[in-house]
Amino acid sequence: AAKANGKNRVQVFEPGLLRVDNPRVTFEWQLAAAAAANELVVHYQPILDLPGLQCTAVEALVRWQHPERGLLYPGDFIDVAERTGAIIGIGAFVMRRACLDAAAWRKANPGAPLAVHVNVSAHELDREGFVDSIIGCLADTGTLAKDLVVELTETVVLDSPAAIGRLRAIGALGVGIALDDFGTGYASLTSLRALPVDVVKIDMSFVAGAVSIPSDRSVIEAIVRLCAQLGIATVAEGVERLDQERLLGDLGAGGVQGYRYSRPLSAADLTGWLADNRAGANGSGADVGGLLR
Ligand code: C2E
Ligand code: MG
Ligand code: MG
Ligand code: MG
Repeated sequence: AAKANGKNRVQVFEPGLLRVDNPRVTFEWQLAAAAAANELVVHYQPILDLPGLQCTAVEALVRWQHPERGLLYPGDFIDVAERTGAIIGIGAFVMRRACLDAAAWRKANPGAPLAVHVNVSAHELDREGFVDSIIGCLADTGTLAKDLVVELTETVVLDSPAAIGRLRAIGALGVGIALDDFGTGYASLTSLRALPVDVVKIDMSFVAGAVSIPSDRSVIEAIVRLCAQLGIATVAEGVERLDQERLLGDLGAGGVQGYRYSRPLSAADLTGWLADNRAGANGSGADVGGLLR
């Protein structure tokens, strides 16, 4: 059709001309457009210190309000986004949203600032402009470097000297570096030596077994001891019960995160949760609140 219109004419794209009936392709297109279409939502899950159970940080977790399928969780789309490259736009959106919220929290509560943890995919760290994008994001949003922590899983980063260099540059800005799902990767110990790590997040699979499975407890004990010697903070993920919290405290874990304290919340709901936490009404070790079992 373009040819029939003559050589010197510009062919304008007509939406009706191209029909895509492949659901996978449609999903990928929708995902690529999700950030621009304002369909991404960032929720925040509290991270509390031990033994005081004060909330000192939150983790940003992305959700996708899909036009037809309803609210989707990262398990439904992050793998696809990493494969198609949509993760770059999604990651930039989450980083900006999280920094805007962190700046607002600091302004509202200068005495008790909250650090915001943002999950960063290896594909983002693979890009040359990533450090500059963080510098720009901090500057644009008025966020202090120390209020931002990037979370990454160790595996892919270690393969790339350039990515490690970028991580060092990010650390040098004063941004924190956390290793996510620690203990499950093939190179957990190497990564502690090769990367500028501030926080280790103990994988929830160990936490799940900690009380009843001696080897899981031993792994946590070893991670906590090693991190203490290296000057690295520890956070245990997936804490759901009081017996797990007590054991983690006994083992010397520095912080906890999990449904026991709160599910990931909208920024608005987090504000109310934080007020209760500061007043000592939640995360107090007593079973208060509908989510605690
Ligand atoms: P993650 O970074 O390890 O985040 C923790 C996940 O565990 C979250 O799942 C959280 O809702 C869930 N969780 C927290 N406490 C508990 C608990 O007590 N019990 C159980 N069973 N689960 C708990 P979510 O939000 O579905 O996110 C899954 C993963 O998706 C994240 O794992 C992270 O790897 C990835 N992800 C989330 N947001 C982003 C993002 O903005 N960018 C990138 N690249 N990845 C993201
Ligand atoms: Mg994480
Ligand atoms: Mg994790
Ligand atoms: Mg994970």
